[in-house]
Amino acid sequence: MNCALCGMDREPRVKLLGLSICGLCMREISSIPVAAREYDHYKDIVRIALQKYIHERVEINPVK
Ligand SMILES: [Zn+2]
Repeated sequence: MNCALCGMDREPRVKLLGLSICGLCMREISSIPVAAREYDHYKDIVRIALQKYIHERVEINPVK
């Protein structure tokens, strides 16, 4: 599985919210200033990933 952010097949791989993210993107996420343009881009991806992650969790463990 390639990096969910840049789409590259790079090492090391980090698991974030069920996504596979390369070390470079991981470092970018944690180092970009909140005011940076890129921040919105990453925020959207993380938000979508989080929704997907929660959705999958619900399907694995259905609330009865
Ligand atoms: Zn990446």
